[in-house]
Amino acid sequence: MTGIFIIVIGLVIGSFLNVVIYRLPNKLSIVYPERSFCPSCKHKLGILDLVPVFSWLFLRGRCRYCGEKISFKYPLVEVITAVTIYLIYIKYGLTVQALSYMILMLVLISEAFIDIDYMEINVNILIVGALLIGLLDIAGILFNVITIKDFLNQVYGMLLAFTILLILVLPGWTGGGDLKVAILVGFTIGFQPTIMFLYTSYFIGGIVSIIMLAFRTKLLKSAIPFVPYLALGALVSILAWKDLIHYVLG
Ligand SMILES: [Zn+2]
Repeated sequence: MTGIFIIVIGLVIGSFLNVVIYRLPNKLSIVYPERSFCPSCKHKLGILDLVPVFSWLFLRGRCRYCGEKISFKYPLVEVITAVTIYLIYIKYGLTVQALSYMILMLVLISEAFIDIDYMEINVNILIVGALLIGLLDIAGILFNVITIKDFLNQVYGMLLAFTILLILVLPGWTGGGDLKVAILVGFTIGFQPTIMFLYTSYFIGGIVSIIMLAFRTKLLKSAIPFVPYLALGALVSILAWKDLIHYVLG
């Protein structure tokens, strides 16, 4: 029962992430207008148009008012968010750790789709995420759920991510936005999971780049948004770093 509740909450949060992904890079307020509107005809959406995933399926991916196609991206973001939240809940339950992983993944999902659409990241989303995760840490330490040792491990994770990414940023192999995103991931998940996070992100990113090169779809490495791979790597690490780390470190 709790599982279904978590999925519904995940879909609703995913619907909010769509607003963030669409409005922030376009310099629009998140709170005003309160109601979302069709990106094409600007018609305000009714309550029924706002039901995550189902409204899109019901309207067969078209705007009720102008008939313009609504991107598949919207239900996709909602489903990815719900599945991600659910998987973290299954693995970590309703704990402070789970909550901080969920906040991290919400930030990463938003940044990944902004990176795909605009080839940039939104620093404000990162700052809000960092503040929330930092506050959870402080609360966790005050209530003895997080030890100082755990916290130091998070700092080491951040330093590791910073060092590795800086090495990749300097020759231009990775963008500065990716560095900022990786620092927040390192700080949230800690040292050992960060090894797995970096390994998985670059492993998957590398394979996809090779496939893209083979099909000559993208010739420049710099033209490939990398945050989606960081998001995927972070999720894999959060869910399975203990199981996978032996394969990486031998
Ligand atoms: Zn419309």
